[in-house]
Amino acid sequence: MARDDRRAGAITDAVQARRDRLIALTQEMVRIPTLNPPGDLYGPFCEMLRDRLHDTGWQVQLLRAHGAPGDSETHPRWNLIARLEGARPGETVHFNSHHDVVPVGEGWTRDPFGAALDQGRIWGRGTCDMKGGLATSIIAAEAFRAAHPDFSGAIEVSSVADEESGGFAGAAWLARQGWFDPARVQHVIIPEPLHKDRICLGHRGVWWAEITAHGRIAHGSMPFLGDSAIAHIGAVLHEIDTVLQPALAARRTAMPVIPEGARASTLNINAVHGGEAQQAAGYTGLPTPCVADRCRIVLDRRFLAEESIDDVKAEIRALMDRVAARRGFTYDLREMFEVHPSMTDRAAPVVQAVAAGIEAVFGRAPGYVASPGTYDQKHVDGIGGLRNVIAYGPGVLDLAHQPDEWIGVDDMIDSACVMALALERILGRSCGPEASKGTTP
Ligand SMILES: [Zn+2]
Repeated sequence: MARDDRRAGAITDAVQARRDRLIALTQEMVRIPTLNPPGDLYGPFCEMLRDRLHDTGWQVQLLRAHGAPGDSETHPRWNLIARLEGARPGETVHFNSHHDVVPVGEGWTRDPFGAALDQGRIWGRGTCDMKGGLATSIIAAEAFRAAHPDFSGAIEVSSVADEESGGFAGAAWLARQGWFDPARVQHVIIPEPLHKDRICLGHRGVWWAEITAHGRIAHGSMPFLGDSAIAHIGAVLHEIDTVLQPALAARRTAMPVIPEGARASTLNINAVHGGEAQQAAGYTGLPTPCVADRCRIVLDRRFLAEESIDDVKAEIRALMDRVAARRGFTYDLREMFEVHPSMTDRAAPVVQAVAAGIEAVFGRAPGYVASPGTYDQKHVDGIGGLRNVIAYGPGVLDLAHQPDEWIGVDDMIDSACVMALALERILGRSCGPEASKGTTP
C-alpha cells in the first residue's frame, strides 16, 4: 500500500467515525427555522452551533452585522466564525456557509423543520441549501485534525446571514471587516449544493432594475380619456419577447455554466404591478374602475463574463427608449442591484486541492461548472479581493428551494472525505512560507 493510500484511508476512517455527529449536527441546524425573509432565529442558531463547536475545541466568535441591511433589534443579523488552530504556522483554509433558508412554500409531504432521517436522507428546508454542507465542512475539518494533529496553519468555518437575499449582512459584511483579506485567509471553499464530484468556479453577473411606465388615470368606462400604463408595459414585454430574448439566447459563454440553458444570457421579469393595489385577502368589496396611471416591472438580467455591465444596461435603456418613443409615454428606471461575474482559474491552488480530493474519492476527474445564479463568492472575490475561492459541497442543486428538499448522508460523507483530503493537501505538509495571521482581521 502506497503511503498516500494509507493517509487517504486514515482520513476516510476519521470521517466515517463521525457519521453520527454529522447527522445530528445537520438535524439540529435544520430544526431551527432560520427563515429569510425576515431573518428568523439567527442568534439562537449561532449559539447552538457555538456550543457544538466548543465541545470539539474550536475557537468561536459570534459577530452581529450592526447597521447592515436587514439588521434590527427584532431580527439581528448574527454571523459565526470558528477556527481550529494548527500546531505550527501556515496558510488558512476557510469554509464559508450560510445559515439562512428560503420560505417553505407549498407542496411538502414532510415536516419542513422535522429533519427526519429516512431512506439515507435528511429531509427539510435548508438540508441541501445549505446546512448539510455546513455540517459536512465541520466534520471534514475535525476528521482532518484527528488524522493530522500536527497540521500547519488553520481552518476556519463561517456560518453567515442572508446569502439568499444578497449577503450584505453576512459574507459582504465579513469581507468589509477584513475577514477575507488574502493576508489572513488564503483558500475559501463555499459548500453550496453543487454535487459532490463537481467544482464550481464562479457565477454569471446580475443586474436588477425596476422600470415604471407612466400613464393617466381616467374612469374605466371611458378608457379613451386616460392613458393605460399597463398597455405600455404590455408593449415593452412584447418587445422583450420578440426582439431582446432571441438576441440574448444567441449569446453564448465559455463559462461552464450549468444547467446548459444558462450558458447564454437570460432575462426574467421578476414582477409586474399595475393599476389598483391588490386588497388584503379578507377584503370582500369590489375594485373601482380606473385606467392604470402607472405600471411597474422588475427585470432580472443575468449576464456573461463576455459581456460588460455597461452594455447590459445600455441595451435595456435603448429598448425602453424605442418603445416609449413609439407609443408616447414616459418611464423611470431605477437600478436595484448589480454583481459582476466571478470566475476562478482552474490552476488556482484551492481548485487543484479539491480536484485531487475528488479524484482520490471517486476515481475520476471532477466536473467543472459555473453557477447560473450568484452566491457569496461575489463578496469574497469582489470585496475581499481573494481570488482563490470556489464552491464545492454535497447536495443536488435542483433540490434547492424546492418542497421536500433533502440531503443524502452518504453524499455528505463522500464530500467530507474530499474536503478533508483537500485540507491534507494544503495544510498537512510541512510548514509553508506564509504565516497564519491570527484570529481577527
Ligand atoms: Zn445556498
